Amino acid sequence: MGGRILCIGECMVELKQAGQADLFGKGYAGDTFNAAYYARQFLPASRKVDYLTAVGTDLVSREMLAFMEGAGVGTGFVRTVEDRIPGLYMIHLEKGERSFSYWRSASAAKALADDPAHLARAVGASDTIVFSGITLAILAPDAVDRLLDALSGARDAGKLVVFDPNIRPRLWDGRARMLETISRGARAATLLMPSFDDETRHFGDASIAETIARYRGLGVAHVVVKDGEKGVTLAFEGKETRFVPAAPVARVVDTTSAGDSFNGAFLARYGEGEAPEAAAAFAANVAARVIQHHGALVPRESLVDAA
Ligand code: ADP
Repeated sequence: MGGRILCIGECMVELKQAGQADLFGKGYAGDTFNAAYYARQFLPASRKVDYLTAVGTDLVSREMLAFMEGAGVGTGFVRTVEDRIPGLYMIHLEKGERSFSYWRSASAAKALADDPAHLARAVGASDTIVFSGITLAILAPDAVDRLLDALSGARDAGKLVVFDPNIRPRLWDGRARMLETISRGARAATLLMPSFDDETRHFGDASIAETIARYRGLGVAHVVVKDGEKGVTLAFEGKETRFVPAAPVARVVDTTSAGDSFNGAFLARYGEGEAPEAAAAFAANVAARVIQHHGALVPRESLVDAA
C-alpha cells in the first residue's frame, strides 16, 4: 500500500551545544526529513524512501546529501541550484530550556518546487508523498501553487498524500495567508497528521472532534490527531473513530521531533498494511524513545526495543 515514499521540504544544518558553552556540534534536520529518517528505520530495505528538496553546490550542501544517503534516504530527487546554500538553525540551551534561532530566509530549499517537470517526475515515481505546513511556509505563492497542483494530481491518482500542518506563525508573512494555505494543503491530502495544540491555538478548534470535522469538511479521507502525552485520535474513512494512548515516559529529555518520528514510524507500519490502531501504537512507542534522547534524529540502536 505504502510503496515508495517521497518526503518534501527543507533539511537544515543544525548547530547544537556540544558540552561547553560556545562549542557547537553540527547535524542536519528538518520536519519532513526527520519523518523520512524514521520511516527508513522501520521499513524493509526493499522499500525506497526519498527526500525532495533543493540544495546548493557548496561543501555543506554536499555534506548534507552524503548524510541523507548515509541514513538510507535517497537523494535522486534533490534539486541543485547555483548560488544558494542550506538554511541553518542553532539550538540554545538556557537553564534546561531550549530555544531556536534560524537563518533560512535565503535557503536553497525555497527552490524545491521551481521546476514543474521535476516535481511531476518525483511525485509520479512515488506512492506515498509527505509534506508539511513548513514545506508550504518557505515557498513563494507561485511555488505553493505548483506543489499543490502536483499533490492534488497525486491524490486524484489514488496515491497516499500525507500532510502535517506543523503551524509555525514565524515562518508566514501573515495569519490569513497561513490559515488559508494550510487549508489548501489539507485539500490536496488524503491523510492529515496535525498536532491538536497547533490546531486549537491557530484554528480555534474547541476539541479534537472539531479538528477532525474541519479537515473532513475539506475532503480529507483520514485524520490522525496527535495530542502529546495524551495520545492520538484516529478517524479513518469507513471506520469508527479510535483513541490510542501515548506510551508513558518517566523523564522527557527533549521533545524535538516527537511528531515527526511519530509520523515516520506510523507511515512505515501503515504503509506495510498494518491497521491504523496498531501502526499508531507502534509510532507512540517510537516517539516515546525519541523524546528520551537529545536531538531530532535518534540513532537506530536507541530505538531497537521500540520495534
Ligand atoms: P508535535 O511534536 O508535532 O507537537 P505531539 O507533541 O503531539 O507532536 O507528540 C507526538 C507524539 O509523541 C504523541 O502522539 C506521543 O505519541 C508522543 N509524545 C509526545 N510527548 C509525549 C510525552 N510527554 N510522553 C509520551 N509520549 C509523548
